[in-house]
Amino acid sequence: MESMKRTNTCGELRKADAGKRVVLNGWVHRKRDHGGISFISLRDRYGITQVVVDCEQNSHLAALSAELRNEFCIAVEGSVRERPGSMANGEMITGEIEVAADRIAILNRSLVLPFQIDAEGSGESEAKEELRLKYRYLDLRSSGMQRRIRLRNEAAFAVREWLVKQGFYEIETPTFIRSTPEGARDYLVPSRLYPGKFYALPQSPQLYKQILMTAGFDKYFQIARCYRDEDARGDRQPEFTQIDIEMSFVGREDILAMTEGLMGYVFKKTIGVELPARFTRLSYEDAMERYGSDKPDLRFGLELRDFSPYVAASGFQAFKDALSRGEAEKNAAAAKGITVPGGAVKAIVIPAAAMGGASYSRKQIEELEAHAKIYRAKGLAWMKAGGTGDAPLFEGGVSKFFQEQAGRICGELGAKSGDLILIVADSSGKTANTALGAVRSKLGKDLKLTESPDGGRRFEFAWIVDFPLFEFNEDENRWEAAHHMFSYPQEQYHATLEKDPGAVKGDLYDLVLNGYELASGSIRIHNPELQNRIFGIVGIPPEEAEAKFGFLTEAFKYGAPPHGGIAPGFDRLVMLMAGETSIKEVIAFPKDSFAKSPMDDCPSEVDAKQLNELHLSVIYPEQKK
Ligand code: ASP
Repeated sequence: MESMKRTNTCGELRKADAGKRVVLNGWVHRKRDHGGISFISLRDRYGITQVVVDCEQNSHLAALSAELRNEFCIAVEGSVRERPGSMANGEMITGEIEVAADRIAILNRSLVLPFQIDAEGSGESEAKEELRLKYRYLDLRSSGMQRRIRLRNEAAFAVREWLVKQGFYEIETPTFIRSTPEGARDYLVPSRLYPGKFYALPQSPQLYKQILMTAGFDKYFQIARCYRDEDARGDRQPEFTQIDIEMSFVGREDILAMTEGLMGYVFKKTIGVELPARFTRLSYEDAMERYGSDKPDLRFGLELRDFSPYVAASGFQAFKDALSRGEAEKNAAAAKGITVPGGAVKAIVIPAAAMGGASYSRKQIEELEAHAKIYRAKGLAWMKAGGTGDAPLFEGGVSKFFQEQAGRICGELGAKSGDLILIVADSSGKTANTALGAVRSKLGKDLKLTESPDGGRRFEFAWIVDFPLFEFNEDENRWEAAHHMFSYPQEQYHATLEKDPGAVKGDLYDLVLNGYELASGSIRIHNPELQNRIFGIVGIPPEEAEAKFGFLTEAFKYGAPPHGGIAPGFDRLVMLMAGETSIKEVIAFPKDSFAKSPMDDCPSEVDAKQLNELHLSVIYPEQKK
């Protein structure tokens, strides 16, 4: 086979190569027979080259060519010739030439394919996901997957290039670690040598990177695999990759500026997109009030507006009740020392132009209401603006309650004739904002507001800062960390941490891109006493804190430097750069939506011997009772 080793790739030959003898290796992408001549599109990772087989001239070649089927792996020897002008294919990078074959060797045959690679007009989306994952090696041959895996590689390289140039060290941390509560459920690895003991796979390298700061490696990063055993929801993967970063002797501004620099470099280098030097900033509170989300999509407006000023003068009892109940709940919580926001009535004005001039039908509004209800809204009130600029009036829905205030409302909310106003009221301001925020996101998609007018791609980054440090878990009746337990409470709250946890803001930040949370991070606690106070507030007693995190607090006693970090999700980053909506599209071997891998049928049962060695026996759910 030595003589059939490739001299060139299938994406390499150009007009200037005409006359050369070459050997190409690759896969039969397509084959067409045209009266005595066969055209083979030969594909490899670099491109596709047209191979021409003159069957009438060479009967041996004709017989071989007749045998070829899609995805046979072959070697072709022949000479490069320019394609006649009319046949030159501008869309193919090798379109100026073709290779006239005089030798073909079949390197390996292929079974009949479960789906066509790059079937015309369908792309990989046509094949069902389970099939794509079962035959992932075939799916990965598609042009889309090839392009995205290439992009992923380039992005990883750009990340490393930029960070290393900035003086960061890439340091690996273990994948077998101590199980520590870090938010999600751990994946466990039983120890053979120590019966009854387990390693855990890291949910992130969080504690190790903080210990590396204590060890003096003041700029660390790692393109790190993280493992979280969470129930399948949305686009989650049991294992995913993040660009884990930590720095010493820094404040929030340093981390934000570093991340902006990194993103700017990666976008420019890999997809040629110039990002602004500084990203928009919003406080958590503003993001919730204006967009009803802590990961707002800023590619469009449709901001949430305060509708409560118009409630008292209206005769609309449902809105009045929401506000008064909210007030009562706030006071009751305050009596328990808990800070909760009161009720809220919020509105969105959808300009007539955004709806394409046509108005929403009752049915469409009902659909939006159903969506709001998923986010616990009690309902979605609506009315349409009508009349004229001088004499506005409302029509439909709840209009009769607000008719008298039409002039004021339209003026203050900027509603014009033909616009639709959607309103959510709730005794919990958070629920009102979140539900209307979900409606806003749906409108953004439905009305295609996320698309840029010139069809180009848009990347709207934003920092969300000043998050609350704690969230109250109603079900368990206790405070828990909003990000994780190692984040630094802002200085001004240190005296009152225990007294009013709900009011404490942390030095936390999220980076948001086009409505996705791309990164989270924080300035960390580096003082063991403060760390122990946080453990106390989230209900981890000192003995438990000592047992689970003692190694961290102990390390902090040896001159731990102030430090902070961030971790952009690498799969998500590549997904957004690739214009995809699922991270499975940018991971070579993802699990399916049920945390399984159809290709190697994982997870799988193991031999009794393996279980014995691990001192384990399995209790199947039905045997439990
Ligand atoms: N370890 C955190 C996470 O995975 C990120 C960070 O705080 O740096 O969300």
